[in-house]
Amino acid sequence: MILKISNIKDDMLGVITAEFIQSKTLIRVFNPQYSGARDKYTIQIGDKHMMDEIGQYLNHNCNPNSEIKDNKGVPCLYAIKDINANDEITFNYNTTEEVLANPFYCDCHNKLIKGVPHE
Ligand SMILES: [Zn+2]
Repeated sequence: MILKISNIKDDMLGVITAEFIQSKTLIRVFNPQYSGARDKYTIQIGDKHMMDEIGQYLNHNCNPNSEIKDNKGVPCLYAIKDINANDEITFNYNTTEEVLANPFYCDCHNKLIKGVPHE
């Protein structure tokens, strides 16, 4: 899977796929560096916070084309829609983060994205 880090808008970087990805395809097996502290680049996995060299550039979307799921103890990124070449890969931050280090107002509906407490 060929992923590129590219400028999305203004000074914001994001992850672009260089090739078509079919829905349900495994996009990336993360290579996590875990820490106990969250920041704007980490992804929450259970009660830990993962830094990954690609994952840190994944942007939020309320209607995303990927999701993060555990695969035998390893966090992985899967397509949940067909993704065209040169499209940005996104996931919903509320699906992983209980609290965002940097809450923001989402472009799609201008509501605050701040994380969702886990059950
Ligand atoms: Zn949104």
